[in-house]
Amino acid sequence: MKTIIEPFKIKSVEPIKMTTRAEREQYLQAAHFNLFGLKSEDVIIDFLTDSGTSSMSAKQWASVMTGDESYAGSPSFFKFEKAVKNLTNFQYIIPTHQGRAAEKILFSIIGGKGKLIPNNRHFDTTRANIEYTGAKAVDLVIDEANDPQNLHPFKGNMDINKLEQFINMHGVENIPLVMVTVTNNSGGGQPVSIQNIREIKQVCLKYGLPLFIDACRFAENAYFIKMREEEFKHTSVEDIVKELFSYADGCTMSAKKDALVNIGGWLALNDTKLAEQARNLLILTEGFPTYGGLAGRDLEAIATGLEEVIDEDYLHYRIVSTTYLGEHLHKAGIPVVRPIGGHAVYIDARAMLPHIAPLQYPGQSLAVEMYLHAGIRACEIGTVMFGLQPDGTEIAADMDLVRLAIPRRVYTQSHIDYVIEALTEINENKQQLKPMKITWQPSQLRHFTARFSMVNSNLNNQLLQQAFVK
Ligand SMILES: *Cc1c(COP(=O)(O)O)cnc(C)c1O
Repeated sequence: MKTIIEPFKIKSVEPIKMTTRAEREQYLQAAHFNLFGLKSEDVIIDFLTDSGTSSMSAKQWASVMTGDESYAGSPSFFKFEKAVKNLTNFQYIIPTHQGRAAEKILFSIIGGKGKLIPNNRHFDTTRANIEYTGAKAVDLVIDEANDPQNLHPFKGNMDINKLEQFINMHGVENIPLVMVTVTNNSGGGQPVSIQNIREIKQVCLKYGLPLFIDACRFAENAYFIKMREEEFKHTSVEDIVKELFSYADGCTMSAKKDALVNIGGWLALNDTKLAEQARNLLILTEGFPTYGGLAGRDLEAIATGLEEVIDEDYLHYRIVSTTYLGEHLHKAGIPVVRPIGGHAVYIDARAMLPHIAPLQYPGQSLAVEMYLHAGIRACEIGTVMFGLQPDGTEIAADMDLVRLAIPRRVYTQSHIDYVIEALTEINENKQQLKPMKITWQPSQLRHFTARFSMVNSNLNNQLLQQAFVK
């Protein structure tokens, strides 16, 4: 394969502060070994998230200057609305300050006690917004998605049989809609095929259920379809995107992902009555329907971002460079979730560090060492994030992963090569990585604020190993 060159030139730069290991030890101790507690200026390569971290283009910054900040009827809104409609063809486009605000509005109306919302796999804010209303969020992804080494090309697909059984078991009257997340963020950024969307749509039509798309990474998903689904190999990404949305009755969107901006989102839908209710709630919680929690300049930047994100040279670079990182780690003997997803590479820390038991947080241990060794910040997605139960007990999560989420258009290949070198070195000395222990934690969402210390012996390893078997 030829070198993937970034399909952009750099006009404006942001310096990275270089630090030494000794300095990073100080910063991390001050943050109680929690990477969320670091100052971002003390990070060399920041892979904490791809959300809201995109570089905007010169054209987007130019659009920002044309933003009109009128309270009602701003031309920036109509530009935004036109750009979203052009891709999605939904009738009502409702701007929100980010994706979760769109979810909050939608599920406040259609959720509630006794209701169930199926998805391939709910993102955590989606699940939280559904469950906050008393409804239940249910994941119906195909079984292949749970095997980190299964090379199925569309590991984001929903299991159609599970969906039909689910509808028959719980009753169509208790299911307000079916949702599909593209790409499946919580499952490793894995795509959903058009074939699968068509089959889901058939089931929805059979039972008279609306289909909504959690569209955060619609463009990355469309590029995977072009690369992996035979029928679409000669179709433009723009047409694939339009076809994808054509099967749906609405979508929620975080513009912080595939709209290439730092803040924003929307709810889009065709149902007139639902749109009316949503706009009423919007006025209550976000703002007037022509700005909805955003400035006019933000709406402009989204409109321009939506033109740029479907550019196939951009998407080729995006998907291929994420794969480049993942496949090089794989070749270096580091266990990663495969196939490599669109926005992130996930390291299987439990497989990489068998000397650290799940309840000693192998993912946290690896994330800590990545920072100490090379100033790389990544995110533990494992027992720290999911292990604490509502009754205060702790069990191991299904997997202990470390996510390297790649901001869009931010880092060059030499940054990525630096990460590969650093992880290769860490892997060569992985026996030295230490178990971790939590010294303080809140009762919920502990990964953001928990405090850790390193454990110097793993005498208790055996005991902990037994504790997690489930
Ligand atoms: C980020 C994300 C959301 C929530 O969007 P925010 O803008 O962070 O509120 C919802 N679903 C998926 C799949 C996401 O990745």
